[in-house]
Amino acid sequence: MSLDTAWAIDWVRRTAATIDEHRAELITLDREIGDGDHGENLDRGFRAVVVALDDADLETPGAVFKLVATKLISTVGGAAGPLFGTAYLKAAQAAGDATELDADTLVAVLTAARDGVVSRGKAEVGDKTMIDAWTPAVDAAAAAAAAGETPERVLAAAADAAAGGAESTDALVARKGRASYLGDRAVGHRDPGAQSSAYVLRAAVDAA
Ligand code: ADP
Ligand code: MG
Repeated sequence: MSLDTAWAIDWVRRTAATIDEHRAELITLDREIGDGDHGENLDRGFRAVVVALDDADLETPGAVFKLVATKLISTVGGAAGPLFGTAYLKAAQAAGDATELDADTLVAVLTAARDGVVSRGKAEVGDKTMIDAWTPAVDAAAAAAAAGETPERVLAAAADAAAGGAESTDALVARKGRASYLGDRAVGHRDPGAQSSAYVLRAAVDAA
């Protein structure tokens, strides 16, 4: 299957399903080093997205990402709502009017999403945030595309790297977000936003 509008819609539906499935786990991760709302926030947001999706007539992946952005920004509070919302908004802009994403456009979409989060949250790799999942994902996607891989394989490389990146946050002290108040006490705990980001990218692969 190509990375077309049907794929983008399926990605969003699968994201909602996986966030719902991992809701309790994400709440627990955020309870350990934050305030415990991350799983609930995202679950509420993606439920609203799915309802909006049912009523919408969308013709491009970019239009799908735009709808996700709008709904997440209006329904998800906390740090993650605006951050994920910005990621999808920038992804929509990078996708433009394309009816399907080739490998290079996919890399541009992922890069724009990551850059959107960075421009809003100012986090760098190693700060124990969702950027620790997104940046390895972007780098792996770019390398796979440069090696001539198919869009599906570029996506798989991104998702694998995001999962590894999320795992890498276990060992880190947080320098951004609520977890940064904990100092060394955050070490040994996974960043919830990095973990949810890895789930989002895994859903994209499952949809392809
Ligand atoms: P809040 O921290 O407001 O309760 P959430 O719990 O929904 O919001 O989201 C927390 C997640 O947001 C963190 O796990 C982290 O990945 C991400 N995050 C927080 N601050 C930043 C930032 N400045 N840049 C990137 N990601 C961040
Ligand atoms: Mg929280």
